[in-house]
Amino acid sequence: MQDQYSNPSILIPRAEHCISRANISENALKVLYRLKGAGFQAYLVGGGVRDLLLGREPKDFDVATDATPEEVRRVFRNCRLIGRRFRLAHVHFGREIIEVATFRGTSDDNDERKLENGMIVRDNSYGSIGEDALRRDFTINALYYNIADFSVLDFADGTADIERGVLRLIGDAEQRFREDPVRMLRAIRFASKLGFTLHPSCEAPLHEMGALLHSVPAARLFEEVLKLFHAGTALNAFDRLRHYDLFAHLFPQTEASLSREEHAFPITFVNRGLDNTDRRIGEGKPVTPAFLFAVLLWEPVRLRAAELERAQQAPAAAMQQAASDVLSRQQDHVAVPKRFSLQMREIWGLQHRFEARRGKRPQRLSSHPRFRAAYDFLVLRAESGEVETELADWWTQYQETNPQDRERMSQGDRDPAKRRRRRGGRRRKESAAGE
Ligand code: ATP
Ligand code: MG
Repeated sequence: MQDQYSNPSILIPRAEHCISRANISENALKVLYRLKGAGFQAYLVGGGVRDLLLGREPKDFDVATDATPEEVRRVFRNCRLIGRRFRLAHVHFGREIIEVATFRGTSDDNDERKLENGMIVRDNSYGSIGEDALRRDFTINALYYNIADFSVLDFADGTADIERGVLRLIGDAEQRFREDPVRMLRAIRFASKLGFTLHPSCEAPLHEMGALLHSVPAARLFEEVLKLFHAGTALNAFDRLRHYDLFAHLFPQTEASLSREEHAFPITFVNRGLDNTDRRIGEGKPVTPAFLFAVLLWEPVRLRAAELERAQQAPAAAMQQAASDVLSRQQDHVAVPKRFSLQMREIWGLQHRFEARRGKRPQRLSSHPRFRAAYDFLVLRAESGEVETELADWWTQYQETNPQDRERMSQGDRDPAKRRRRRGGRRRKESAAGE
């Protein structure tokens, strides 16, 4: 090992790289120093090193060490061990969590590292830093910043790929994707987030291997999809996912509706929704998983609701039923946690209520806790031509005016023609409900 370190192609001394402790979170530094003080090796690794070398602000800091998770726990009081498939220590500092991983080894001849059909189902076999580097996913993610001398260790030619802007898997790409199909989504995520190109060896198997995503737990895919679309480059990630035929394996119902009408409304709607998310992130505004998934699944929900309405269901009931149908089919692919799917149902369910602009109804609607998200959603629908722009404009104006004027806006006689239609509609609904 020691010899490897002295190889100049692996060790980059402090003077030859741009990573400064001033840009590393204080808590990450605390963890590194404390581990070192306890006699362990301690490195910053992964996205933290990669992003600092690129001059970007890291999202979080990951630490790698030769201490076992139990040993890490003994060093920190504020520490929790997590994961079964991949045991890790989480050191908590208020809201910030520093993830500490023990160097993984490559030996397969023990119970701690287990593969099923080429897929890693457990990886708790420990090893040296050199081994650890080679089982990381991309070369640019296998760089280690050593707290002992502030040098960077590069075992997989990651710095060269950082300079070239290339995303390359370590080892045989097909095998690495098979071991963990989520790496395909990580490839798309890093390529779009960093503006990197996929190395041809990494790109070629992508088109063929999407079906492997079905063997990944749907809850893990939810986390991964969220990272993909909440990194500020959702639109780019969406294009790439579709380009590599991965999107269909995540959102089959959406893909079916998109490919049916490639150039018409649905694709515009999703694009606008994602663009909107990217813009909000760019402006530092909050984004919610519920809105994102409501956008991604709207087209199948809308089509299903229309179908149910044609079968004589009342609009509100049809929407609820459509939401249930689409969400339950979606759960096998990318599972949306209940707290978000409830909000999605509200966003969808409120859409038809925007049409009622008379009397007390606008007032009631605007005090609904999900009104703002539902309104943003309405604006997207209007922008992509699904509903009249005039409707969204009315609601924009409604929110901008003072209470007296709001009342004026919601007064006035309804168009008699509309009134007749509405009554007729209601009677139909009632008879459909068997009343
Ligand atoms: P981010 O900026 O999203 O945090 P990251 O590269 O730090 O990007 P993490 O998910 O935080 O990603 O993982 C930290 C590091 O752990 C990665 O850089 C990589 O070295 C390794 N890693 C994570 N997931 C995998 C995986 N599925 N296969 C192999 N290595 C992985
Ligand atoms: Mg990270």
